[in-house]
Amino acid sequence: MQIIFDQDKCTGIGLCESFAAEVFEIGDDGALIIHGEAVTEERRGALMQAVDGCPTNALRLVES
Ligand code: SF4
Repeated sequence: MQIIFDQDKCTGIGLCESFAAEVFEIGDDGALIIHGEAVTEERRGALMQAVDGCPTNALRLVES
């Protein structure tokens, strides 16, 4: 699976970072940085929470 990110929808609030800080990071400029777009099995649960928790639907998981 892979993370798809729509920057136009992202408001930079950072809820995704609270679910999976090793993958999502709000940079100093307020823009979201994604560290590794491939979804490993061990990260899958946290990433699904991040996707579900994003208030603007800026994140998706898709089969790669
Ligand atoms: S939770 Fe959604 S809107 Fe907030 S920083 Fe993450 S991707 Fe952007």
